[in-house]
Amino acid sequence: MSLLKHAAGRVAAMGLGLAAIMLLAVQDASAQQTSESDLPTVAIVTTGGTIAERSSGASGGAVPAVTGKALVDSVPGLRDLADLEVVDVSDIDSSQMTPALWLRLHAKLEELLVRDDIEGAVVVHGTDTMSEGAFLIDVLLTSNKPVVFTGAMRDASSPDPDGPANLLNAVRQVLSEEGQGWGVTVSLNNYINAARYVRKMQTTNVQTFTSDEKGYLGYIFDGKVTRFNEAARRIRLPLEGAPPDELPDVPLLADYAGSDGRFIRHAVDSGAAGIVVQGVGAGNVNAASFAAIKHALDKGVPVVVTTRVLNGAVEPVYADPGGGKTLEEAGVILAGDLLTEKARLLLLVGLIRYGQDHDRLHALFRN
Ligand code: ASP
Repeated sequence: MSLLKHAAGRVAAMGLGLAAIMLLAVQDASAQQTSESDLPTVAIVTTGGTIAERSSGASGGAVPAVTGKALVDSVPGLRDLADLEVVDVSDIDSSQMTPALWLRLHAKLEELLVRDDIEGAVVVHGTDTMSEGAFLIDVLLTSNKPVVFTGAMRDASSPDPDGPANLLNAVRQVLSEEGQGWGVTVSLNNYINAARYVRKMQTTNVQTFTSDEKGYLGYIFDGKVTRFNEAARRIRLPLEGAPPDELPDVPLLADYAGSDGRFIRHAVDSGAAGIVVQGVGAGNVNAASFAAIKHALDKGVPVVVTTRVLNGAVEPVYADPGGGKTLEEAGVILAGDLLTEKARLLLLVGLIRYGQDHDRLHALFRN
């Protein structure tokens, strides 16, 4: 996207005023927008989240209440930046998200981003599971256009909502030259995070997303993106064809002091296609969990071990029963620096692509 074209578009939009704004329409899943303005086009794909919720007296809490179009219309200046093609994929709190719904979101993004007239996409999403959804899309996406996940920590009925500024910044990031080449990012409260490393760190504060020791990708302020880092360690594994109707069953279980492996055995015996076990420290589990993991491996079920520790990576260091070294030797896939919930999604995609081919799954997690 050329900045010159963008600048010219802004002037044109100001001149066209209300008439141009009224040309813009909410898109349903199949409609395509034709715009006569010179503004670049950015897709706004909404799924819901606090940004689109209002606190209601009846429910006693925040609930989904705002359509994508109403959300976009409520942000002063947003339509001066770009022609916005708004697509509502869902209107749910992201605690209700599922991999199947993210796959629908992914298909919609592919459909939009393949179009020459679209510069990139902003995905409006709840913050609870935003880091997971962004990672899955980052792995699957074939397009190199920017995709920016954003949302809000304060709902639309708050006296001081953070959603409008986040949306403005997200569109600016898509359009900026400095914001290209990162793949999928999670961008809130001015900070830009790589989908791979971002994590929600605070339950109620607007500064909730960080990438910890891996670092932010950049910062956006007053319309300007400052680039700190490249997203050098992206994992990309596009699907070949449509995903299966029934997705592989991949439970996520945690090791803890005194855990007895019961739930790992249950997962295997009830037909799990793969299992993720969140270990401790550098990626270790206790002896009882180790025995249950070996039961899974004996049945051909791939097991990925992650860690509950936020920084660092899983490493094959310890050689007592269940230590990372023994796990590796037994055939467990060590998740490296992937957070548990992201390792689970990568295993899910790996199982769709490769089935229970342990060698290929091991290779996938070495990325
Ligand atoms: N519960 C909300 C959600 O994830 C939180 C938010 O969006 O900030 O949908």
